[in-house]
Formats: sequence, C-alpha cells, structure tokens
Amino acid sequence: MGVTRDFFIALSKNQLLNSGAKKWGLKLGAGKMVAGTDIDSVMKSVKELNSVRISATIDNLGEFVYSREEATAAKESILNTIEAIQKHGVNAHMSIKLTQIGLDIDYDFTLENIREIAEAAAKYDIFINLDMEDYAHLQQTLDILDALRIEYPNVGTVIQAYLYRSEKDLEHLKDVRLRLVKGAYKEIPDVSLQSKQDIDENFLKLIKLRLLGKAFTSVATHDHNVINEVKKFVEDNDIPHDRFEFQMLYGFRTEMQKDLAAEGFAFTTYVPFGQDWYAYFMRRLAERPQNINLALRGMVSK
Ligand code: FAD
Repeated sequence: MGVTRDFFIALSKNQLLNSGAKKWGLKLGAGKMVAGTDIDSVMKSVKELNSVRISATIDNLGEFVYSREEATAAKESILNTIEAIQKHGVNAHMSIKLTQIGLDIDYDFTLENIREIAEAAAKYDIFINLDMEDYAHLQQTLDILDALRIEYPNVGTVIQAYLYRSEKDLEHLKDVRLRLVKGAYKEIPDVSLQSKQDIDENFLKLIKLRLLGKAFTSVATHDHNVINEVKKFVEDNDIPHDRFEFQMLYGFRTEMQKDLAAEGFAFTTYVPFGQDWYAYFMRRLAERPQNINLALRGMVSK
C-alpha cells in the first residue's frame, strides 16, 4: 500500500507527464473524476448537482506553474470561471491552489493575483477556498490568507489532520471558514502523523473542536465512519445544520453524496475541470488504489 501510494505520488510530480497530459485530453479514465476540460462542461455538471441540492466548489485545475505567463493565464481562467458562476446563476464557489497563480515564482505576485480573484468573487458574494498543498507551501498559504482575510471575509482555507501543527492553526483560524481533510500529500514524520489510525483520530478530534466553535466548517471526506460519527456528534451537541457541511470529490461515492443532501445536510461536491488533470488524478490513485477500478470503468465506458 505504502509503495503504491509513493508510486502514484511520484507520478503526480512528474513534470514531463504533467505537461504532456495537457495535450492528451482526458485520458486513462480521468473523465470519471474530472468534469470535462472546458467551462461549458463544468457548468453542465454543476447544474446537475444543484438539481439534487448539492452545491459545488470548482477547481480550475492547474499546478506546477513556474512562469508568470502561465500564472497570469491561470488567474484569467479562474476569473472567467467566476464570471460563468454568476452568469449561469449556479450554486458554486471556487477552490484554488496558490502554486497555480504564482506561489513557486514570487510571493507578492501571488498575493496580487489572489487579491484580484478575491475582489472579483466578493462582488458576487462567491467564496474562495485556498486549497492546502504540500507542507513546503503551507506557511506562505496561511500568510496570504492572513493578509487577505480582513478585507476579504469570502476567503478561507484547508486544515490537514495529518500535520502536528494543525490544532494550533485551527485555533489561529477560529473565525475563518475552513475545510478539514485528512491530507493528501506525502509528508515526513517530523511534521506529520504517519499511521492511518493516528490520522483518523486526529481528524475526528479537530472536526469536533471546530464544530463547537462558531465559524462554518466543511468536513471533506469519503470515510463513512467519520461521517457517521460527525452526524452523531452534531445531534448530541445540537449543532445547527447551517454551521457545517460535508464535502466529497466529484465522481466518488455519488449515491452517498445524494443521500446526505437528501437527508438535509448541506453538501458540496469538489468539481475539478480543465486540461491540467494529470497530477490531481494521480493523487486520487495514490490515496486509494481501488480508485483504479473507477478509472478503469471510465476507460471502458468511453
Ligand atoms: P480515506 O482514508 O481515503 O478512506 C477511509 C475509508 O472510507 C476507506 O478505508 C473506505 O472504507 C472508505 N472509502 C473511501 N473512499 C471510498 C470510495 N470511493 N468508495 C467506497 N469507500 C470509500 N487534501 C489536501 O491535502 N488538501 C486539500 O485542499 C484537500 N481538499 C479536499 C477536498 C475535498 C472535497 C475532499 C473530499 C478531499 C480533499 N483532500 C485534500 C484530500 C484528503 O486530504 C484525503 O486525501 C482524501 O479525501 C482521502 O481521505 P478520506 O478522508 O476520503 O478517507
């Protein structure tokens, strides 16, 4: 399992394959996990989700951006997607990776880009989530959030339960809208829990701490054990349903997504789209090698 995870994480970081894949179109069954390569297809998918009371967080896929031209192009695509959300009147917000808009190039340039995005989104009351990437980018992501959050309360981020520092970060961000996840990258034991059991325990601990606070929380997981425990916890503690939501990724446990929404829980699906699907897809295979079955079904059903 560890070896398979390492293998797919290594593939996700391969820049030659990442740039090659942009020209392939959606291949290798990625179409089951990625809602198309253009705005029209993603809007169609979001409308279908909205029709069953599911909202969307749209990820205009892109990472490993090392030139200002690419980062500026990514920012323009994100701005176009915000305009499309408004124009189509869909229930959706955006998830953004800061490396996509310049974090590996220059901090101030990235801050300028995300400020422009936050401003455009605030105009339409659209929320912007800063996805959390690997540990090397964490502090800068939090610094950027701190720089933005007074002016733009429509911006939040993600806390990863596998990191030792997350409880402290949670306290620092107690007034900010947050998504809580287990964590998708490979981090060293100096900074992160390594066993599934420890990560799961910390995940539940952080979720409960957070749900007892006031700010809005997204519990992002496909783990039915965690979901069931959260359901029980909110009931036992009279936590109002408008204080939290569940989130899952597009294409995963689709029936469970609909059931949770139908039960009256706020639900948001993370909907990735775009040509830059390769690293996202490989991380999903790393998390759960059984996802290969989903991908294979995608390959044969095309
Ligand atoms: P896992 O530990 O993968 O699974 C637990 C158990 O749930 C499994 O053993 C199995 O029994 C069951 N299960 C899981 N998946 C399935 C399935 N498809 N079908 C049937 N049973 C299943 N990570 C980041 O680092 N940064 C982010 O910004 C980020 N954003 C995310 C946003 C969303 C909406 C989601 C859902 C995840 C995000 N992640 C992010 C990824 C996250 O950190 C985990 O890597 C990923 O969600 C896998 O962990 P899990 O909690 O889903 O459960």
